[in-house]
Amino acid sequence: MYGLGIAKGLLVTLTNLMRKPTTVQYPEEAVTQAPRFRGEEFTWYVERCTGCASCAKYCPLGIIRIVTHPGGLNIQEGESYAVDVFDIDIGRCMFCGLCVEACPYDALFMGSGFERARYRRGELVISVEELKQAEKRPSTWFRPQLEAKSYNPQTGKPLSWEEVGR
Ligand code: SF4
Ligand code: SF4
Repeated sequence: MYGLGIAKGLLVTLTNLMRKPTTVQYPEEAVTQAPRFRGEEFTWYVERCTGCASCAKYCPLGIIRIVTHPGGLNIQEGESYAVDVFDIDIGRCMFCGLCVEACPYDALFMGSGFERARYRRGELVISVEELKQAEKRPSTWFRPQLEAKSYNPQTGKPLSWEEVGR
């Protein structure tokens, strides 16, 4: 019948007019993320790290650089290596999380941020000092102990090294 197609088209328009918008007016409006989100800044606990470099060995892109010297102290292992350099070049990171999976001491976690835009690639390297000073909001990805506590890095408080272990 003539005009039926137009009526159907208008019905689709009217139906969608009533729906809640799915777009988010970022950056005015914050994007809601899952607690398991694999963000870019990483959360690292020097107190838990032995300097074993398993994370660096397992990174398929070789973008974690670790330099250590004997004489550090790890809360779980006693004597360990002190970490002098712990750089992560997140400009090349693909957020696979293998480094986090490889860490046997729950010292390294994915982060929850996504706003680390920079003008130069070199500024995308996270240094050991930056990792030490960063607010600790670990992603719960590959960390069932955090999921068991229903921790949410977006809404929960920052966690200390004592709170993130198994
Ligand atoms: S998330 Fe993947 S690519 Fe990024 S540093 Fe870890 S292992 Fe390497
Ligand atoms: S973060 Fe974990 S895997 Fe990497 S050096 Fe420290 S203890 Fe080893």
